[in-house]
Amino acid sequence: MSGVNDGDLLEKMLADSGALLEGHFLLSSGLHSCNYLQCALLLRFPHYAAYVGERLANLIRPSAPDIIASPALGGIIIGHEVARALDVPFIFCEREEGKMRLRRFPAPEGMRFAVIEDVVTTGGSIKEVGEALESLGGKWVASGCIVDRSTENTGLKGELFSLAKKVFPVYKPEECPLCKKGLPLVKPGSKKQRI
Ligand SMILES: [Zn+2]
Repeated sequence: MSGVNDGDLLEKMLADSGALLEGHFLLSSGLHSCNYLQCALLLRFPHYAAYVGERLANLIRPSAPDIIASPALGGIIIGHEVARALDVPFIFCEREEGKMRLRRFPAPEGMRFAVIEDVVTTGGSIKEVGEALESLGGKWVASGCIVDRSTENTGLKGELFSLAKKVFPVYKPEECPLCKKGLPLVKPGSKKQRI
């Protein structure tokens, strides 16, 4: 797409895929927002997933990871696309009894790893994956996401690379202008989704 810069193209893909929702949403924090980002809707189109994966890989490449890791489920598609673009293996951690664990893969002992997620809000899932793999002997060299929604320091090791930074307004329920308008409140997805 000549004449369209990468930032605009990502915005267009988010809009075209319906990933950027507008309405009245209850966030996991208990706050209300008029915006909700569902990256699964973007990533369901393989050519969009490949595009964002390649762009994120370009940001991660200088950190020279030997392997890419993601938290299940949200990070799996984008993590795999980044790994494909870098031509390195991909692994994922999944929650078991409340803790992120590496269940299906050998320990990345002595390997440089980067953790990839779709959306970062607090950075909690990335941090858990990073710490789990460090405890198995890996070296955490970078983190990356498609959209960074964090408003505070995530406390992640090294730099957090992202393709877009988006901070949406959020409201306390008692001060929410959407509640005042009487718009129905929607709780998107399951509690595991990144809201
Ligand atoms: Zn509200």
